[in-house]
Amino acid sequence: MTLATENWGIGITLAVLGLAIGSFLNVVIHRVPRNLSVIRPRSSCPQCRRTLAPVENIPVLSWMLLRGRCRGCETPISFRYPLVELGTAICFVATFARFGRDWILLPFELGVAGMIALAVIDAENLVLPKRIVWLHLGLVASTMATVAITTHRLSALGTAAGVAIVWCGAFFAINAAAPRLLGFGDVRYSLVLGLLLGWISIPTALVGYFLANLVGVLVTMVLLGLKKTTRDTPLPYGTYLSVGTMLGIWFGADLLHAIGH
Ligand SMILES: [Zn+2]
Repeated sequence: MTLATENWGIGITLAVLGLAIGSFLNVVIHRVPRNLSVIRPRSSCPQCRRTLAPVENIPVLSWMLLRGRCRGCETPISFRYPLVELGTAICFVATFARFGRDWILLPFELGVAGMIALAVIDAENLVLPKRIVWLHLGLVASTMATVAITTHRLSALGTAAGVAIVWCGAFFAINAAAPRLLGFGDVRYSLVLGLLLGWISIPTALVGYFLANLVGVLVTMVLLGLKKTTRDTPLPYGTYLSVGTMLGIWFGADLLHAIGH
């Protein structure tokens, strides 16, 4: 996965776009679990309620210039804000490096943006808000179907839909048998993950699912070791599914190639 020199222009554009969208995702991550509107009012400090000036709203830069503190009340601003902005920029460029100049980039970038928001929300709140999951699925499915039809890739679309349905069916069964093991939010969420990974291939979907569980087990072991979690704490499985799916999208083909497929 590399970025050819002639694609640097698009890469830089996507990085800047990623910073701006990451900034919007921060608003979504903060407000949707609190049932607040993502459009109004303008961003303000959650502590002193002061509305932020445009210069305080520049992705990453503002946080650095303000040294991570509110200009009004000096309350520390979470490191999550610049991290999500920078992370979105990097993920957007990585996805472009994976697919190149192809319209299929559109559903995958939308998919990545939604997965970042849901990963952070689930890690912080242990919930995958229905509003975001359905909107995410709708955006990815409609753009993917449009690209598939206009570029005559109906077989890829068929595989994507098939993987989505089988994955969701399997999660539905696990949820019915052991709701403590897997929440219904993950059942809904698996549809869009299946579409994204299934579009690439069925083996890629298996790799993505395997990586999600591997990351989940490793992170949980580290957190247990650091005593940051207990065996009884519910897992943010949606976070691991998001990370595994993104790793599967970017590196699944390389991994499969390395093991001889
Ligand atoms: Zn403040």
